[in-house]
Amino acid sequence: MDCLFCKIVSGKIPSYKIYEDELVYAFLDINPDSNGHTLLIPKKHYLDMNDIPLDTLTHIFKVAKELKVMLEEKLNADGLTFIQNNGDVQEVKHFHLHLKPYHKNNDIKDVKEIYETLKDRD
Ligand code: 5GP
Ligand code: ZN
Repeated sequence: MDCLFCKIVSGKIPSYKIYEDELVYAFLDINPDSNGHTLLIPKKHYLDMNDIPLDTLTHIFKVAKELKVMLEEKLNADGLTFIQNNGDVQEVKHFHLHLKPYHKNNDIKDVKEIYETLKDRD
């Protein structure tokens, strides 16, 4: 299947990975709306909210809760928005959850610079 996010999971296309386990993969959005804009995806290809099994979705939100705390702390965010698009508003047809940290001063920095700040998680 010719899917951009499947290629990111398999490493055929590079990404700034911030988290990975047996089921999910999280990486920085290439065109961020805010510093730390992250995409959290299942490793297995599912199209959208209708397609994804509930147990996988539950795991995604477990990880999303942890990433939210990490992003807020490391980037000193003033808030964080979750977004999940379906249908015509979904550009990439592999399920993904956006995590968008909010900063009162939205001074967008280079994705690589944000990655350097985030990569030392522990
Ligand atoms: P959607 O509109 O499908 O919810 O959002 C897709 C997101 O994927 C967009 O925010 C877009 O910037 C991001 N994106 C598209 N292509 C790539 C890519 O090659 N690498 C990364 N890291 N993000 C991408
Ligand atoms: Zn895919």
